[in-house]
Amino acid sequence: MTAAVSSSPGAKRDATAAAGSASPASRWPGQARVVACVTVHVDGPAVEAGKGLAPLGSNSRGRYAMRRGVARYLDMLARHGVKATFFCCGHDVEHYGQLYRDIDAAGHEIAAHGYQHEGWDLGDAEPALLEKTHRLIIEAVGKAPVGWCSPSGRKSRHTLPTLARLGYRYDASEKDLDEPYFPEGEGENPSFVILPNNTVSLDDYPFYATGQALACEVLANFIAEFEAIRAAEGYLHLTVHPMAGGGSGTPARAAAVERFLAHLEGCPDVAFLTLAELAGHCLAHPQAFGGGPA
Ligand SMILES: [Zn+2]
Repeated sequence: MTAAVSSSPGAKRDATAAAGSASPASRWPGQARVVACVTVHVDGPAVEAGKGLAPLGSNSRGRYAMRRGVARYLDMLARHGVKATFFCCGHDVEHYGQLYRDIDAAGHEIAAHGYQHEGWDLGDAEPALLEKTHRLIIEAVGKAPVGWCSPSGRKSRHTLPTLARLGYRYDASEKDLDEPYFPEGEGENPSFVILPNNTVSLDDYPFYATGQALACEVLANFIAEFEAIRAAEGYLHLTVHPMAGGGSGTPARAAAVERFLAHLEGCPDVAFLTLAELAGHCLAHPQAFGGGPA
């Protein structure tokens, strides 16, 4: 566990430093009052490829992530000393291996996000696609991912058994709770945890792709969500996309994300964790978290 609690921009300190400002009953590392997990969904040309579209013109937005967006986020996260989870499509890893080695070399987590960002029900084809992306990530960065997020939010009866067989420790696809929980059947010594995300109001995509929101409006909403989560001593699971169009890859939108990071850093009781670190914490302290949905 390498949790860091925010202090000033660019500076990190151990999570134990938050103990004085948090509830004695905190479930989080170092008695932090709130956990912040920054996830970067690298939806590159894999998205267009998965739809059978040539990556040209208005269908070149995914390539923006590879040419500029990811580098912009690596620079931003380095300025703030924040380690993030990068959800990656196998097709992008296959074609832009060096970019993913850069992400890994910067200390961020590489997690799996489908092969071509499959947004359809995969049926019996799902295990082979999960295995393919898993293998491509290992080949590119030399490490096996331990986390997965469904590109479409869809899952099947194959999903969790396949992830467990491949050694994954968490799934970040569910939207049915605002705190980590264990799937049914995990027992007293779980090996797998669900880390739900909020893909309505802590995800840039719906604001920009369908809501036509301004960057300042998205920032205000992120701050409002964070303050409500902080009041409840919960966990913030932020989703941003480094692409153009429906994401926050372009300058003003990326700047709004950076201002949000600065807001988090101004709160001394926040622990920044990658999702892999949060999963490790939950699995090491199962008594502090609940079981699956009824
Ligand atoms: Zn995605």
